[in-house]
Amino acid sequence: MRVDYHMHLENGPLTLEYLEQFWSHAKKNDIDEIGISEHGYYFQQYENIMEHFVKLMDHDPVIAAWLKDAFLLDLEDYVDLVEEGKNRGWPLKLGLEMDYIPGKEEEIAALIEAYPWDYVLGSVHVLGDWCIDYSPDAGWPEKDINSAYAAYFTALVDAANSGLFDSITHPDLIKIFGHRPSMSLQPFYEEAATALSRSHTCVEINAAGLHKPVGVIYPHPKLLEECLKQQVPITLACDAHWPEHVGRGLDEAIDLAKSIGYTQVATFTRRKIELKPLG
Ligand SMILES: [Zn+2]
Ligand SMILES: [Zn+2]
Repeated sequence: MRVDYHMHLENGPLTLEYLEQFWSHAKKNDIDEIGISEHGYYFQQYENIMEHFVKLMDHDPVIAAWLKDAFLLDLEDYVDLVEEGKNRGWPLKLGLEMDYIPGKEEEIAALIEAYPWDYVLGSVHVLGDWCIDYSPDAGWPEKDINSAYAAYFTALVDAANSGLFDSITHPDLIKIFGHRPSMSLQPFYEEAATALSRSHTCVEINAAGLHKPVGVIYPHPKLLEECLKQQVPITLACDAHWPEHVGRGLDEAIDLAKSIGYTQVATFTRRKIELKPLG
């Protein structure tokens, strides 16, 4: 089964016409099922989870740019739209990509409880007040690369251990701009795989890295090897932000999964996992 469980409607309106474009492009790529996974921070209902960052917007230009269109939409409208698409017979899943914000676990859990998600993705895009994927010029020049990687994997393990999410997305996003640590990442990969396995959380293979400065899929094959050893299922993602990018890199992501030894991909319905043959 060919699935793409990670895409964003953020560059268009919340309309059936726009949603249909995502499914049309998926069909062209022989995809059987797609999951819509808008960022939580576009919705009013997420503002309390991000209150720390809302306060920072006045004097941090990166946070201000990141959240410039945040908290404007209503989750009800988004949920209704995807459900309406399903009613049209399109094979859609209702998802959300949520930032894991330490200390906000209860608020995140409440938001997850409140809507009929098929699945929820957990992400780490910020470490403290630092947006790691915004620009290589924002924060990176003054950072020690080993410390940045260690902090990232600590946050990733915490996100997995929270047990809040069905899959952890782009699980080594910290490599986005090509910064390389001088230490081995193997212990971090093992720790991340253990946390994912114990919390019954999937690991996402995300092809978007192919189109970022690093030029490779997230995560590193060695992390996937550890995940397979510990029986952590995979979800598949192209992380499209435009309809025409749905399925971009999916073949490479599937090839990577198969090269590691994976034979199945996780799908979700109302947060119940079902493993399907990888195809
Ligand atoms: Zn993301
Ligand atoms: Zn995304």
